[in-house]
Amino acid sequence: MVAELPRASKTATRESAAALKARAARIAKTLKRLYPGARISLDFKTAWQCLAATILSAQCTDERVNRVTPELFRQYPDARAMANADPNHVQELIVTTGFFRQKTRALIDAARSIVERHGGEVPVEMEDLVKLKGVGRKTANVIRGHVFGKPGFVVDTHVRRLTYRLGFTKSEEPDEIESEMGEILPPAEWTEFSMALILHGRQVCFARKPKCDECELRPDCPQIGVVEAQKTKVKPGRSSRI
Ligand code: SF4
Repeated sequence: MVAELPRASKTATRESAAALKARAARIAKTLKRLYPGARISLDFKTAWQCLAATILSAQCTDERVNRVTPELFRQYPDARAMANADPNHVQELIVTTGFFRQKTRALIDAARSIVERHGGEVPVEMEDLVKLKGVGRKTANVIRGHVFGKPGFVVDTHVRRLTYRLGFTKSEEPDEIESEMGEILPPAEWTEFSMALILHGRQVCFARKPKCDECELRPDCPQIGVVEAQKTKVKPGRSSRI
């Protein structure tokens, strides 16, 4: 437990762009110390497996996905294999990840797009990735950051909540949040910073009862919307914006 941390002002006058960047840099430094080398905890060896595991991770824990993917990847090791898969068989393999019909459709559709447009290889460029069926910017950024070593700011439910509480954005739209964070942080920080925010959201900055008293980001966090969040009922599995 971290005691006696100073509180950031919640009533501070409007923060200049330079002050915002400096605060973000301090937060990045703290996050690096708390979550060194933060990465997604999905297991994969190839770009296709990263893409497939990320599709399966929607509304599901990474641990559960990691229990399913070894057999899935053994039977469908690449996009060509998945493009020709029997949907009923894929559904059986991934049923425990939830939303298995939609996820099966997304896996097969993405695989077919990759085979038809990219010769079976997952493309590197964002504009190509987001044109694949079932692939949005979140999945594309995970792949770019973790497979191709390209900067990618991943916005999931935790990142939406934390970037708001930390005063980096007022937007609820993932694309806008990604764009705004891209102005605040250097590209080299995007992947690790967003991954660390996800871990911090899971371990400390909970949707309803964030552990602000123990949080090492508190000196730099205006805690926007936290009081309201503590009064709000959040259904299990859902995240509050405030
Ligand atoms: S736990 Fe509290 S202090 Fe820490 S990041 Fe979340 S809102 Fe800010």
